[in-house]
Amino acid sequence: MLTLPTFDDVMAAARRLDGHAHRTPVLRSRTADDRLKASVFFKCENFQRMGAFKFRGAFNALSRFSAEQRKAGVITFSSGNHAQAVALSARLLGIPAVILMPLDAPPAKVDATRGYGGEVILFDRFKQDREALTREIAQARGMTLIPPYDHPDVIAGQGTAARELFDEVGELDYLFVCLGGGGLLSGSALSARALSPACKVYGVEPEAGNDGQQSFRSGAIVTIPTPRTIADGAQTQHLGEYTFGVIRRDVDDILTVSDAQLVQAMRFFAERMKMVVEPTGCLGFAAACEAGLPIAGRRVGVIISGGNVDLRRFGELMAEVA
Ligand SMILES: *Cc1c(COP(=O)(O)O)cnc(C)c1O
Repeated sequence: MLTLPTFDDVMAAARRLDGHAHRTPVLRSRTADDRLKASVFFKCENFQRMGAFKFRGAFNALSRFSAEQRKAGVITFSSGNHAQAVALSARLLGIPAVILMPLDAPPAKVDATRGYGGEVILFDRFKQDREALTREIAQARGMTLIPPYDHPDVIAGQGTAARELFDEVGELDYLFVCLGGGGLLSGSALSARALSPACKVYGVEPEAGNDGQQSFRSGAIVTIPTPRTIADGAQTQHLGEYTFGVIRRDVDDILTVSDAQLVQAMRFFAERMKMVVEPTGCLGFAAACEAGLPIAGRRVGVIISGGNVDLRRFGELMAEVA
């Protein structure tokens, strides 16, 4: 039996992060409110350190290392933001870090990870089993593996973003959360159940990669081939044991949106709110706009998960829509 993380773990993570992570702003937009006929509160993790909420989980997990673990270092695999989060947290805590990244990861993310002092090892994610490769290196070097989502300390850290949101704005009727492997969603759900028990919590995935929705609705973790979508932070093949345990207990449903809807949301953030949000970071708002839920007149939270997008790519995507 797994011991699932609890809201007490989220609170402990918040204390560890205090003074290290940014308390990110909660922004409003009159245009968004008018469009959805609701009160919308955007928790802007695109303004978090290294540009995404992943700093929270990584820093929390690395803060708990023993002296021996700190000396040998941390290893992880990631398509981007978790890599930067581990590299930055490790640098701040004086811990060596090895990061396995896919060959086709956005160049901005590879550069940023190296810039934070992480040792990057590239692999082919369509041919090689990254988890097996990571375990091999971890064993050879005695390093501790901190995976991108399926770890109690990572989940507890990610949950601190929603905790801050509820702390700042009070209870909500709906909360929309981007979903890849489920660290952010499960942590957010722990905070929602504790601080706003009646709030409906929705995870949002890209249409092309709806393994989370299939898992939630079937009651068992479903694995899919690596999905092709512009939401590169949500190209996960399956939920984790810990994240699924919390999600199936505490989440109301999993929704999906198309890549075209993500581009529209990106454009909205750029044009109306003057924010660069990466495609994956747009999942929650795209679903709030498109899912047809009865949110009119309600208080709606949207977690914007990150803002790390290659500027050339950003320009291309913005040029696609009229
Ligand atoms: C990792 C990531 C996600 C997905 O988070 P999970 O915890 O894997 O569900 C969403 N958005 C961004 C920007 C990310 O980096």
